[in-house]
Amino acid sequence: MIDTSRLMVSVSGVRGRVGEGLTPEVIATFAAAFGAYARQRGPGNKVVLGRDSRVSGPMFHRAAAAALQSVGCDVIDVGIAPTPTVQLAVEDLGAAGGLAVTASHNPIEWNALKFIGPTGMFLDGDEGREMRAFLEGEIPRATWDQLGGVTTDEDAVERHLQRIFSIPFIDLDAIRARKFHVALDCVRGAGGTIFPRLLDELGCRVDAINLETDGRFPREPEPVAENLKELEALVRRTGADIGLATDPDVDRLSLVSGDGRAIGEDYTLALASMLVLRHRPGAVVTNLSTSRLLDDVAEKAGVPLVRAPVGEINVARRMQSESATVGGEGNGGVILPDVHLTRDAPVAAALILQLLAETGQGLQSLADSLGRYEIVKEKVARPSQPLDAVYDALAARFPEADADRQDGLRLSWPAEKKWAHLRPSGTEPIVRVICEAQTRDEAAGLVETLRAALPV
Ligand code: MG
Repeated sequence: MIDTSRLMVSVSGVRGRVGEGLTPEVIATFAAAFGAYARQRGPGNKVVLGRDSRVSGPMFHRAAAAALQSVGCDVIDVGIAPTPTVQLAVEDLGAAGGLAVTASHNPIEWNALKFIGPTGMFLDGDEGREMRAFLEGEIPRATWDQLGGVTTDEDAVERHLQRIFSIPFIDLDAIRARKFHVALDCVRGAGGTIFPRLLDELGCRVDAINLETDGRFPREPEPVAENLKELEALVRRTGADIGLATDPDVDRLSLVSGDGRAIGEDYTLALASMLVLRHRPGAVVTNLSTSRLLDDVAEKAGVPLVRAPVGEINVARRMQSESATVGGEGNGGVILPDVHLTRDAPVAAALILQLLAETGQGLQSLADSLGRYEIVKEKVARPSQPLDAVYDALAARFPEADADRQDGLRLSWPAEKKWAHLRPSGTEPIVRVICEAQTRDEAAGLVETLRAALPV
């Protein structure tokens, strides 16, 4: 058994600091358990393996490949690739599953394994439990004559690009005709394998930084506004129309406007949804902590907005059950079912450029048309009584608010355009409180009102 005390194990992955909990032994054990699970589940015994650009990536990639072979899985190695590219390869190749060696937006000292099912979606709660059951007993290993092989797949990125170009409402000629000048920051993550080709095909003139895929992140890799100073300066210096920033595994996209200002990652999904809904009105799905900007976009388009528990797979599953048109997360993660049910930054970039092309407006004026909200996040000590009772008490204290109990407690006041979401941390004895309103003072005031109303 593995010591998981220094690891973060979730339904669809395992994450840790390199050398402090996360070792090749840990990666190999999880990869072998995943391979045994995938082989039993099928179809077949192929598992796609890819990684982001992290310095520890090659080491863990080799450990994962060996472990997959040891349980009789044939490894299809896509090398350094965006996580959504790995997921699409699983689907395209009819594999039994996929593994992405990536810690997504986490700092440089982290790495992780993410588990992908045969549909190309991450494992959900039930699938994750079935997979982890293989960790409890002895993992069934292959004998010498049953070991898996390794082949490489050089075309995964190209297939991903072709899938994007065949989105029905992406008009390649219209985008190319605009000859957009784009500033790009791939943070030395896996984005360098796809974004230059994507933008080249879209006829853009590109000024790029951090395209090297060596994992030596020159900034904090999460693409939140405060980490995008270098890209803001690049936009101003080059006079670009727009700046694009991704995280290391290329599932989140952040935008910088033509005047060199990071507009905040909440706008990515709101603007991408605005474009999709112009062509195809339908349900939009997001999580309980995503900005109200999206409610406004859905309302204007006359379509329902459905909220799912936090966690990408929860949003993706709800998109399936609602037959949603578009969805995702407020952190810059856009999901377009036309391509696949996972967050995909190249898809998001294509949708945003299409929006600029067909509206003839700049990014800043499009963002201004959506209005502005302020989000305030706080941590409060976890009350001693059970959280369900705490949520009951809070819901009773604010009877005028709509209460959603899918994931913690979300209280919303739609007429006043504000909401609050409380959910416990999985790792610390705290409750996270997120509030959004039209002004910072109002959002901060809502946090304080809730804090005061919390039973001790
Ligand atoms: Mg990511």
